[in-house]
Amino acid sequence: MNRKVIHIDMDAFYASVEQLDHPAYRGRPLAVGGSSDRGVVAAASYEARRFGVRSAMSSRKAASLCPELIFAKPRFDRYQEISSLIRAIFHRYTDLVEPLSLDEAFLDVTDNKLALVSATFVAQNIKNDIRNEIGLTASAGVSYNKFLAKMASDEDKPDGLFVIRPHEATDFLDRLPIDRFFGIGKVTAEKFKRMGILNGKQLRGLGKDFLQDEFGKQGGFFYHIVRGIDERPVHASRERKSIAVERTLEKDIYQEADLHEIADRVLKQLWIRYGEKNLQARTITMKMKYSDFSQVTRSKTMEDAILSEKELYEQGMHLLSGMLPLEHPIRLLGYQLSNFVQEGDQPKYLQTTIEF
Ligand SMILES: [Mg+2]
Repeated sequence: MNRKVIHIDMDAFYASVEQLDHPAYRGRPLAVGGSSDRGVVAAASYEARRFGVRSAMSSRKAASLCPELIFAKPRFDRYQEISSLIRAIFHRYTDLVEPLSLDEAFLDVTDNKLALVSATFVAQNIKNDIRNEIGLTASAGVSYNKFLAKMASDEDKPDGLFVIRPHEATDFLDRLPIDRFFGIGKVTAEKFKRMGILNGKQLRGLGKDFLQDEFGKQGGFFYHIVRGIDERPVHASRERKSIAVERTLEKDIYQEADLHEIADRVLKQLWIRYGEKNLQARTITMKMKYSDFSQVTRSKTMEDAILSEKELYEQGMHLLSGMLPLEHPIRLLGYQLSNFVQEGDQPKYLQTTIEF
C-alpha cells in the first residue's frame, strides 16, 4: 500500500516571523541578518526576493541590489518558539513527524490521528491551523514518499499546496531541472550538466551501473529517486517535543475567578507531569478555545528553563491575565511546556557557521 507523506515548509520563515511581530515590516523588502560589511542574509522576505536578494548572500550585495532593504537582527529564540508551536500542530495529526530544521518537516499521515483518508485534506488543515493560530503561511507537498513530497512543497510557493499522485510522478520528474532534485547538491548538479544531463528525463536514461561508477553510493540513490522510488521512512524524532495539560469545561466560562481556579488546577497538573519527565522547558504556551470553537495561543520563552512550581504558576497566570477581560466565554483552557534544554546538546541553530 502506498504511504501518504506530507512535507511542510514555512514560507520565508525568519523573515515572515519578523513581519508578523513588526507590522512596520509588512509588505516591505526585509532581510534577516546583520547589516555590517561582514554580515550575511539568513532569510529574505518575498518583497526582497523580487530584487534578487537571497539567503546566504552577503549583506553588502543585498543592500546594493535593494537600497531600501530593511535589515532585522535574527531572534532565534523567537523562531524556536514559533517552531515548537508549529510542531505541536503537526502532532495533532500524527506523531510520525521528522523535523528537518526549524521550519521544515516530513509527516507520515498514512494512519493519522483523525483517521482522515485524504492526505491533501490533512495538509490543507495543517496549513489552515498554522495560518489561523500563528498567522504565518506554509507550503505543503503531498505524495507517497519523502523525496516527492519535498519536491512538491517547492512547486507552488508561497502558501502552496501541491500533490504528486503515483501516476503523475514520471511526468513531474521528467520536467524537473537537475539542480532542483533534493539530494543533488550544487557540485553534483554541475557534474551532471557537464555530462549533458539537465533534467529528470535525461537522468532516467542513465544506467544504474554507470551512475554508481560515477557517483558511488549516491548513484544508486539517484537511480531510484528519478523513478519515484524512495523507501526511507519518516523518522519520528525520539525526544518529546512538549508536555501539555488541557481542560475542556462542562460549561462555558466567563468569570475571572473561575478562570483563575481552572488555570491553577491545570498548572498544578502540568507541574506534576513536568517533574515526572525530568525535563527542562524554556517555553510555556497557553491555549484557549472559545465557545464558538475559535482558538488562541499565547506563549513566552525564557532565557533559562522553568525550574520551580512558583515560576510555572507566575508565567502561566501572566499569560492568562494578558487575555483578560475575555471577549467571549471559553470552553477549554490548556498549558503546554516545550523547547526543552538538553545537557550538552546545543540547539542546532547555534552551530550555524553563518556570521550575523
Ligand atoms: Mg522554508
